[in-house]
Formats: sequence, C-alpha cells, structure tokens
Amino acid sequence: MTDSTAPTAPDSTAPDSIAPPPRTAVETSVPPDREAHRCERCGRPFAAAPALALHRGLAHGDDLDPAEREAYAAALDDERADLRRFRIVALGALVLLYFGLLFAYAVFA
Ligand SMILES: [Zn+2]
Repeated sequence: MTDSTAPTAPDSTAPDSIAPPPRTAVETSVPPDREAHRCERCGRPFAAAPALALHRGLAHGDDLDPAEREAYAAALDDERADLRRFRIVALGALVLLYFGLLFAYAVFA
C-alpha cells in the first residue's frame, strides 16, 4: 500500500528529467490589443522587437542571417547594460537600507 501524499522518487529511467528546460522554453504571450512581434521560425509572440531578436539568437542561433545576427548582438548588449544598471541600483539600495537601519539603531536604541 502506498501513501498518495508521499513524494515520488524521480524516474531513474529519464536522466534528462532533472535538466532545466531550455532558456527559450518559457511561454510568451502578448495582449490582444498590442502589436506582437512573431518569430517567423516558431511562431512565438513577443511584445518588443529586442525580445524577438534575443529569442532568435538563443533559439535559432545557427541559422541567422547577418542582419538578425547584428540585431541579436545589439539586443544582447542592451540587455547586459540593463542588467549592469540593475545590479548597481540594487547594490545602492542595499547599502542605503543597511546604513539607514544602522543609523536608526544608533539613534533610537
Ligand atoms: Zn523562434
């Protein structure tokens, strides 16, 4: 007799079952009232052209034409710049929070 609430053991016959899904396997959707940029190879919709360029480079990188390859490189550079900016802002917020709490403790404790 088995307990149906007990966690099941991973299937040892499927070694790939623990592998993360491909980075492009995330479901995408665009609201019906917005213009969708559709991938001409797989039909996935994207809300913005840079997202489509990133998708093309990640999912169909082997068969890009030079213009698509250039758009992918530009979108990748923009994405990296956005991530760098986010990291700096997040670090600044953490420093402000840390010292804000430290000074509040020093004043009120
Ligand atoms: Zn595609």
